[in-house]
Amino acid sequence: MMANFNYTSMNAEKFSKVLKDIDTFIFDADGVLWLGENVMAGSPKFLDYLIQLGKQVIILTNNATKSRAVYAKKLASMGYHSSITKDSIVNPAAVVADTLYRAGINKNGKKVYLIGSQGVQEELDNLGITYFGTGHDPVSNQSDNRPFIYDLELDEDVDDVGAVVVGYDKHFNYHKLMKAANYINQNENCIFVATNTDETCPGPNPDTVIPDAGPLVTAVQVACGREPIIVGKPHTAAFEYIRRRWTIDPAKTMMIGDRTNTDIKFGRDHGLRTMLVLSGCHGVAEIEENHAKSQCDMIPEFYADCLGALVPFGY
Ligand SMILES: [Mg+2]
Repeated sequence: MMANFNYTSMNAEKFSKVLKDIDTFIFDADGVLWLGENVMAGSPKFLDYLIQLGKQVIILTNNATKSRAVYAKKLASMGYHSSITKDSIVNPAAVVADTLYRAGINKNGKKVYLIGSQGVQEELDNLGITYFGTGHDPVSNQSDNRPFIYDLELDEDVDDVGAVVVGYDKHFNYHKLMKAANYINQNENCIFVATNTDETCPGPNPDTVIPDAGPLVTAVQVACGREPIIVGKPHTAAFEYIRRRWTIDPAKTMMIGDRTNTDIKFGRDHGLRTMLVLSGCHGVAEIEENHAKSQCDMIPEFYADCLGALVPFGY
């Protein structure tokens, strides 16, 4: 297939012409709708504009630390349209819970070993899935006399643990790594699921590296020697989840995000139209870099400064 290497700068006037060919918009959240705790100026108005035109709006974040209910509240508090609710939002926590539910974890009476935060806990609770392992798991209760931990008492019988889920967890440590690797390694039927594999997350201080779920997932993967099912963008589980819940025509759906390797790749890999906004992580420099490497799956069809720049004059 001939690669499509074109990427076009978008403005409000050009957008109004493309708009008629799109009936569904999928938005990334951080760097697009908000930046950390602050609303992205102009974005609520842009979504109002689309919703008023009858467009379908879906929000797809890679952040599994909070549940959809928490994100819905955050959007409402920032002034986003009242029609945007928990049911407009997809996050890896919800997709993980759905994946495990559909795999029959409940039916089979299995438990989940969870390395993760509130988001995954609440979404598992919503579907009645039993989990354990969250919070502190100090190494300090092991003898310090030997450099290695050769034996670790597992909290549950390996045959009762139907899945290990790995996501962002600030309490992640050697104990958790060892437990996760053993639950997976000692039971071939144990499912290994990762929320997302983002390397780092954005923070208030650009000089501080904040490891995200990616390094944690890699640690478990290397230790147990098995590949996880990854549900976050750019992987397919989130796309399938969306297709089960919404009626979408990929050719009439546009993915808008601020990262080329997650948002744009997700759109490209699943046949969606794509637009990068420059208000978050990646800029034109990254597009050019992908272009130089012929990575057309990470080159957006369009790019714009921010969503607010696409609202028609006088709206
Ligand atoms: Mg983002």
